[in-house]
Amino acid sequence: MSGVFLALNAGSSSIKFAVFDADTETTTPRIKGAVAGVGRTPAFSARDAGGTALDAGALASLDVSAGHEAVISLLLPWLAAHTADRPLRAVGHRVVHGGQAFAGPTLVSAPVLQQLAELEPLAPLHQPHNVAAIRAVAKWRPDVAQVACFDTSFHRSQDRLAQLFALPRALSDEGVIRYGFHGLSYDYIAGILPGHLGNRASGRVIVAHLGNGSSMCAMKDRKSVATSMGFTALDGLMMGRRCGALDPGVVLYLMQARGMKAAEIEHLLYKQSGLLGVSGLSNDMQVLQDSDDPHAKEAIDLFCYRAASSLAGLVPAIGGLDALVFTAGIGENSAPVRKLICERLGWLGIELDDAANDRHATRISTVRSGVEVLVLATNEEAVVAKTCRDLMR
Ligand code: AMP
Repeated sequence: MSGVFLALNAGSSSIKFAVFDADTETTTPRIKGAVAGVGRTPAFSARDAGGTALDAGALASLDVSAGHEAVISLLLPWLAAHTADRPLRAVGHRVVHGGQAFAGPTLVSAPVLQQLAELEPLAPLHQPHNVAAIRAVAKWRPDVAQVACFDTSFHRSQDRLAQLFALPRALSDEGVIRYGFHGLSYDYIAGILPGHLGNRASGRVIVAHLGNGSSMCAMKDRKSVATSMGFTALDGLMMGRRCGALDPGVVLYLMQARGMKAAEIEHLLYKQSGLLGVSGLSNDMQVLQDSDDPHAKEAIDLFCYRAASSLAGLVPAIGGLDALVFTAGIGENSAPVRKLICERLGWLGIELDDAANDRHATRISTVRSGVEVLVLATNEEAVVAKTCRDLMR
């Protein structure tokens, strides 16, 4: 099939996109870019496969009033102009929540779109933007097939025990269970593991996706067995702005003793906590690493302490550990964070090769280490493109 696939990742304030050739299995996009600051100060950037920056054209004139729909209305003709010879075959969307209904990707129809919109309360900060992007594409290019790829699907292989909260059964039955997220990233890493681990890829592996959003996934046979995120993308590890796992009693305290409303608490837990809240400085790991503020150091130390604790909590689900993979912005780029986490895990048999870690080598454990530790770049857009390719066949 000739033509191109467009992978779209619509977040609250950004739309990331990547364009892939439809007729090859390549994981390298022909064009990759983003509109950041949507609704604030929109900024367009895009590069071709060779790394050359591409001109924004009409997208340079976006203003504060431009929402997701306005951005997509300009992005589609911009893409058409930059892929002139190749028709757009499908648009694949990263959709954060597939609920219990979607255990795999799906072609979007009117009833499917309705189901995705009904899941908005489960991911209020992400799902509405994913749905808005699908609606915008349907409006401007109704002729083009759309594919929804879910961050939750990868975890649907989990045992019931890994998915249950210790809550009254009626709540579990209505869907208050642990879903898990970052599934597209885990899917990509699971796909490339054999190339790095050989037979051990089917063993007991924990993947640490450490970025602005952070989570871990314990895999066996390259399938998700347990994960640190739960009902929402707020649970588990400490993140850039999100608190991660929290005693639910704190939420009750904020309501009862501090009189805070649900929206205020949501803002506190999703936007003002994590690295930003503890450091009082920034949600950006690189900024904190470059700072000599003691609060920045404490934020990094807490991030690593909690990551190591969370990892240790996942080990029983897979009965040991053969390999640990670091991925995403922090996992791929921060040698100090990887070192601090691994230092706490020596008892698991992990031994880091400091020199390899410092140069961001693919294998950063020593030959004596009982656990292989790898640094692998994730590529969620490639999973979306592959899904389009599979479904359009
Ligand atoms: P992501 O959400 O995967 O794009 O990851 C974003 C996070 O990665 C931010 O906290 C960045 O500060 C962090 N990051 C990116 N590059 C580096 C680096 N060289 N050193 C430390 N952190 C980094």
